Amino acid sequence: MSNTKAYAALNAKDPLAPFQFDRRDVRPGDVQVEILYCGVCHSDIHQVRDEWDESIYPMVPGHEIVGRVSKVGNNVKKFKVGDLAGVGVMVDSCRTCKNCKKEMEQYCVDGMTGTYNAYERDGVTVAQGGYSSMIVTDERYVYHISEKLDLAGVAPLLCAGITTYSPLRYAGVTSGMKVGVVGLGGLGHMGVKFAVSFGAEVTLISTSPSKQKDAERLGAHKFLLSTDEKQMKDADSSFDVILNTISANHNYKKYLDLLDLNGKMLVVGLPSEHPKTSPFALIKNRRSITGSMIGGTKETQEMLDYCAEKNIVADVEVIPIQQINEAYERMIKNDVRYRFVIDMKTL
Ligand code: NAP
Ligand code: ZN
Ligand code: ZN
Repeated sequence: MSNTKAYAALNAKDPLAPFQFDRRDVRPGDVQVEILYCGVCHSDIHQVRDEWDESIYPMVPGHEIVGRVSKVGNNVKKFKVGDLAGVGVMVDSCRTCKNCKKEMEQYCVDGMTGTYNAYERDGVTVAQGGYSSMIVTDERYVYHISEKLDLAGVAPLLCAGITTYSPLRYAGVTSGMKVGVVGLGGLGHMGVKFAVSFGAEVTLISTSPSKQKDAERLGAHKFLLSTDEKQMKDADSSFDVILNTISANHNYKKYLDLLDLNGKMLVVGLPSEHPKTSPFALIKNRRSITGSMIGGTKETQEMLDYCAEKNIVADVEVIPIQQINEAYERMIKNDVRYRFVIDMKTL
């Protein structure tokens, strides 16, 4: 066992605080990664504050992890000491079910093992995340990271990146399609970058007028202020795809109304209350709602390779770990441009 420094939530109410715990020794298939950067996802806040009613404490959050390999088990084939490596939202799965066999382990029939706030496959050990100095993970769930990209900007690709890349690919987003991205936060800004790079005509749909300039800088072609009723009415039935990244409670109908014939709303945002919707808004234009959870190991590596080829990284504000509680407050106020990433040297 290796004693590991971290920041943890001890309960749903108190701020995160310094914490120490033991990581397992490297098993034959494991890779040990010294963590250099860890992104801050809104899912960290939902779970730290027990907004999904399933929190296990003490909890070390963090599932946008990049670092360098410091040890490998005897059977490890993909990595060697010194390699850059990434770990995302999932650290294990049953590996034998039909979905694991298709490398879509996030939909494991037995349930995937989350990077934190989850029990390992032994059903006893609690998995702990990336607000920590190092992590030990089976190599199947560890990814290669290009040396040529900015490492702090790569960290958010491990969750915000794959969570937006996967549904946009599944929906077949390509040139000429009209895509609306709802919410310009960590996921939303990656959604804009990917949809633009796939050739779509992209509109940012936002509650924050102050984000219009940034949306344009990120490549969005248009901006729609969702609090302006006239703008929303004028955009009625005009999109092929809407990527919904909203973290707060809201009604789906407002965004469904924007979908054209056969339009799809891709839901990735996970507010604490289950959103209301209207069957009338769904039957009009034969619209549909599709959910999507991160991405499997194969697609995550594909997304990372795509980002290296196209030079895509997240826009980040790097913070010391001591500012994590302040960063959470700013995210809740929609004041993040566009992902906080913790410099783990500050731990
Ligand atoms: P974030 O950085 O905090 O961004 C969320 C954005 O939602 C905000 O910046 C804001 O954008 C918009 N928003 C907030 N409150 C709103 C409201 N009341 N009405 C309309 N828009 C509102 O969060 P994130 O890290 O991108 O995560 C977004 C959500 O995705 C979270 O619920 C998270 O748990 C979930 N998630 C899901 C998966 C998955 O696998 N499906 C993976 C990761 C995260 P504007 O200022 O532009 O309006
Ligand atoms: Zn996440
Ligand atoms: Zn499985």
